[in-house]
Amino acid sequence: MSEWSREQHRSGKTIGFVPTMGYLHEGHLSLIRQAKELCQLGVVSIYVNPTQFGPNEDLDRYPRDFERDEQLCRSAGADVIFYPDNREMYFPDHFTWVITEQMTQKLCGLSRPDHFRGVTTIVAKLFNIVQPDLAVFGQKDAQQALVIKRMVSDLDFPVQIVVAPIVREADGLALSSRNKFLDPKQRREAASIYQTIQFADREYKKGRRDFAVLARQAGEFLNNRAECRIDYIEFLDAESLESPAADRPVLMAVAVYFGQTRLIDNLILSD
Ligand code: AMP
Repeated sequence: MSEWSREQHRSGKTIGFVPTMGYLHEGHLSLIRQAKELCQLGVVSIYVNPTQFGPNEDLDRYPRDFERDEQLCRSAGADVIFYPDNREMYFPDHFTWVITEQMTQKLCGLSRPDHFRGVTTIVAKLFNIVQPDLAVFGQKDAQQALVIKRMVSDLDFPVQIVVAPIVREADGLALSSRNKFLDPKQRREAASIYQTIQFADREYKKGRRDFAVLARQAGEFLNNRAECRIDYIEFLDAESLESPAADRPVLMAVAVYFGQTRLIDNLILSD
């Protein structure tokens, strides 16, 4: 992989990179297309990174289908798929971790304590191997995109980070590889996550800034429409993830369990 990238750079080509865990959907494909619009060559990595899963999470049952992914990558214009296995990515004596502090201690970082350490470490490794000029991440994982931007800036990675919008189903559910775990009733009800976000966005547009009350009302709104367990509904500064400040963009972030399946979604509120 590195040799190919060096060769392309030597001949003056630019490389856009999309890291994924596979089981691709239209959300991933939109990132690949964006990478190809911005660079001459597109690399997609497919790797279910074990170190970003907690001990009781869905690593073993995470969906995989390489042949289907390969076709989809091709259809979206990817030039290379980097598809390593665990022995190549982590030697048994892997001792080095990349840790971004502060902004990983909230939202998903609370219910998934080592998750972001796994994400930043694997993305740093992938950047070193693939050597992209640019990498595209999805707004779907809003906290991840902010953490990666911070890691790149703090550690001076020579990679430009682009964040692409969330791709949704017709009923508003954000596309996710994990949606396949939902049974038909859960799938129907999962659309209320986005309805809840839209409810809060309407309130925000009316001038509401009492975020603690709004979060509670949004929780009631969702609980009235779906049999689910809310992990968090939070309103935070859309860049720093600190408490919202006047005249700064606000991120509404939601994480919800439908049975064992944990879904996330978000919106940057605007008036
Ligand atoms: P994953 O395979 O879930 O690790 O996701 C790989 C990349 O695709 C991440 O940058 C995600 O944010 C992005 N992504 C996942 N779902 C969507 C979506 N519905 N819309 C846009 N990007 C997405």
